[in-house]
Amino acid sequence: MTYQVLARKWRPRDFGSLIGQEHVVKALRHAFAGQRLHHAYLFTGTRGVGKTTLARIVAKCLNCEAGVSAEPCGRCAACSEIEGGRFVDYVEMDAASNRGVDEMTQLLERAVYSPTSGRFKVYMIDEVHQLSGHAFNAMLKTLEEPPAHLKFILATTDPQKVPVTVLSRCLQFNLKLMPQGAIVAHLARVLEAEGVAFEPEALPPLARAAAGSMRDALSLLDQAIAHGAGSVGAADVRAMLGTVDETYLLRLLEALAQEDGRALLAIADEMQARSLSFDAALRDLASLLQRIAVAQSVPRALEEDLPERERIEALAQRLDPETVQLHYQIALQGREDLPLAPDEHAGFAMTLLRMLTFLPEASGGEARPAHRAKPAAAAPSRPGAGFEGDWPALARNLGVSGLVRELARNAELARYEDGLFDLVVPRAMSHLADKGYQEKLKAALERHLGRPARVRVTPGDVRGTSVAAAESNERSARRAEAARAVNGDRFVQDLVNLFDGKIVDSSIRDVKK
Ligand SMILES: [Zn+2]
Repeated sequence: MTYQVLARKWRPRDFGSLIGQEHVVKALRHAFAGQRLHHAYLFTGTRGVGKTTLARIVAKCLNCEAGVSAEPCGRCAACSEIEGGRFVDYVEMDAASNRGVDEMTQLLERAVYSPTSGRFKVYMIDEVHQLSGHAFNAMLKTLEEPPAHLKFILATTDPQKVPVTVLSRCLQFNLKLMPQGAIVAHLARVLEAEGVAFEPEALPPLARAAAGSMRDALSLLDQAIAHGAGSVGAADVRAMLGTVDETYLLRLLEALAQEDGRALLAIADEMQARSLSFDAALRDLASLLQRIAVAQSVPRALEEDLPERERIEALAQRLDPETVQLHYQIALQGREDLPLAPDEHAGFAMTLLRMLTFLPEASGGEARPAHRAKPAAAAPSRPGAGFEGDWPALARNLGVSGLVRELARNAELARYEDGLFDLVVPRAMSHLADKGYQEKLKAALERHLGRPARVRVTPGDVRGTSVAAAESNERSARRAEAARAVNGDRFVQDLVNLFDGKIVDSSIRDVKK
């Protein structure tokens, strides 16, 4: 018996088995049950959400020998031929590869003839937005006055590129991305029906990687079954996807919330003992922090059946939003710094300690408990000799932490006049221009300078003179210098010649400390 891939075997054959598109199914069922047939349907949605599958179901509804209905029999010649892609009156055309006017003209010329064996001719045009302008015009004529026996099903991932004249003649349905919980539940059903052993915690990472597409989820499941030699284990799936067990990441954030440095480092050691990728860990940690931030700003935004939902929501309650933002930023930065660290474990541990050290200031501008910030930096500076115009030097010595520190580090001084610090931050960091952070920066400047100050922060064009930009330039320069040293090294050159090798610049790491 030949093995049939799961995505094909489990392709929905009727409205009842189509998962996650209840709103579309309800409307279509209602229309077919009431015999209210439209001559053109447009299905929109990203790839893999089931547009072609839905088109085949609609073609069966229209052509089932038992009559037009929302419940095609699935057994008659028309139903099974449509299912198998052999029905002469059902044509699937991919506009991405047949975008010219000739293909469209040929198709439309055939449209005037009555169906050969079915009730209706059904033309399914996928990626319809890719048709050329002439091809659209040719189609429009038929759409305006369609023969009674012709139905169009158009599908697109990019409805904005479909001319309004076409849109206005179609009944439009937007197919949604499949929720993660629905994918997990479906994968479990498939595995049970197929008699494949699996660990439940193996499924959420697969669903996440599928990013809303059931077809991708089933393809990944096929790979996972092959990878696990017939069963689906969580460790195998994580190895296959290169993802990190989320329980490690949740434990890390819980340790951070408890300000428990010892636990933090113990978890990092545990991860190293399991040879987990620290680069993947920082990427997945950022993704987890993003979900926590969503839970904080939009209550109940997390899916009901999202795995680990309770732990994520507990963290969302426990960490304040500013801390989550800061951890996120540090995770991204830590990932960038990882190749420069003495080794990945050290780089990862330093990133975690940075999260522990630079907790945002408590409200009122007071620095939080001493162990987290260097006493010298946390203590308010004595009133200085005034501001001489060297903003980076001032920004480095303000003794602020958290996102206020990020604001000071990423801002450039556009102008200084009458005690007003006119600062610009890169547009990509416009969140740093938040009024609350501006207030805290103003308080820190007044503490440091010993006199009143005003602060104005606007997102805009930057020249690269901020503390952060200077540090980034320094890192690039060190990387370039290391690359020059490696490329110019006689021994390395001999190796390259001997083995006919090539130096990959991005693999060069600066280990000078
Ligand atoms: Zn049928």
